[in-house]
Amino acid sequence: MSKQIQAIRGMNDILPDQSGRWQALEQVIRQLVASYGYSEIRMPIVEQTELFKRSIGEVTDIVEKEMYTFDDRNGDSLTLRPEGTASCVRAGNEHGLLYNQQQRLWYMGPMFRHERPQKGRYRQFHQVGVEAFGLGGPDIDAELIVMTARLWKALGLSEYLTLEINSLASNEARANYRAALTDYLQAHEAELDEDSVRRLASNPLRVLDSKNPAMADMLSRAPKLSEYWDEESRSHFTALCERLDAVGITYVHNERLVRGLDYYNRTVFEWVTESLGAQGTVCAGGRYDGLVGQLGGKHTPAVGFAMGLERLVLMLEHTQSLKVPDPVDIYIAAMGDSAELPALQVAEKLRDHVPHLRVMQHCGGGNFGKQLKRADKSGAALAIILGEAEVQAGTYTLKYLREARDQETVDWTTLLERVLILQSEKED
Ligand code: ATP
Ligand code: MG
Repeated sequence: MSKQIQAIRGMNDILPDQSGRWQALEQVIRQLVASYGYSEIRMPIVEQTELFKRSIGEVTDIVEKEMYTFDDRNGDSLTLRPEGTASCVRAGNEHGLLYNQQQRLWYMGPMFRHERPQKGRYRQFHQVGVEAFGLGGPDIDAELIVMTARLWKALGLSEYLTLEINSLASNEARANYRAALTDYLQAHEAELDEDSVRRLASNPLRVLDSKNPAMADMLSRAPKLSEYWDEESRSHFTALCERLDAVGITYVHNERLVRGLDYYNRTVFEWVTESLGAQGTVCAGGRYDGLVGQLGGKHTPAVGFAMGLERLVLMLEHTQSLKVPDPVDIYIAAMGDSAELPALQVAEKLRDHVPHLRVMQHCGGGNFGKQLKRADKSGAALAIILGEAEVQAGTYTLKYLREARDQETVDWTTLLERVLILQSEKED
């Protein structure tokens, strides 16, 4: 026997017993973004490497060590997208969707980062991203956060998630802060770990992100970004807080929240949980007013977020708070040759008459016991059995698989009635 080929480490199959939960989650998300008037955009999975270098930043974890980059047959350097914002801005610029316009967009799909695979961290993972262009005020920042809060409610996850917000202020304010922070960190260089020494040189704000407990005390005494905020950023932040207060969304102002990508300014936020161990951020975003210009477009304010679907699915597996329907409502069994065609006919007739009904027809013959076993395994609530007697009489035998209810033999009209009731109960 030849050796089986395995999937690439950190790139997972989503098997049939998991895909129902994924679909249910995706369905809730589609309804959510639609209810705020957002339109879907679909971008390619591969882009020119330059796009990510220029947007995410050369000295970020993603660009320094996580990208899947390769030369294609023309010798062009291409990269599997590590995130969606850069592609979305590229597409918006390329098709003239952004300048002097307002766009509310969302997308969903796989992203690729060469990280060490562990629970909640994979090399191919899935994000839903939401981006709003052409709006510079705190109102749209609030809208995005309110939208995510509504999602947690719909998924039954609210009690497990905490909102952290911060403002990275203007480029100028951040540069002043960076200088002060660098001075402070240099004075405490002996206390920095290896990673932080590296970051101190390249991207000092990222040192604040460190989870190293040995550095916690020293970092808590570092200068605070909010002491360097410019006036406009301060009032933007205050107005955002007012809006969150007005709709009862609680948040923590985390002074050390800086995000790992270079393009953010002003508002940044993360939804974090304790229930996933170290991989605690399920949704993260912020304002990136400079990016559209940086990628060759005309200046356009923008704000967005991305959430990791694997982490949400892990939470949902744990809470069981999202209803995942069985894939089949009705199983049709045919006993004997004479029942085969009528069984096919009634299956098609049911699909004609009852929208969204999921009918599985038994294939491959076999005795009564075998067919009913399959019916049970399918998850269906009801089996419709057709034998010679039913075919002769033009009737159907109904066997209820999930309730203690007597089997009955009925005509087409009654069958349809029963199925419609079943279907309406399911939709409740
Ligand atoms: P982390 O700090 O966990 O590495 P990040 O700051 O790199 O996250 P973002 O680039 O902001 O993450 O991506 C947004 C969301 O996408 C994250 O909050 C997370 O839910 C998810 N995500 C990011 N990287 C991965 C990954 N390798 N595997 C699974 N999900 C991921
Ligand atoms: Mg990361």
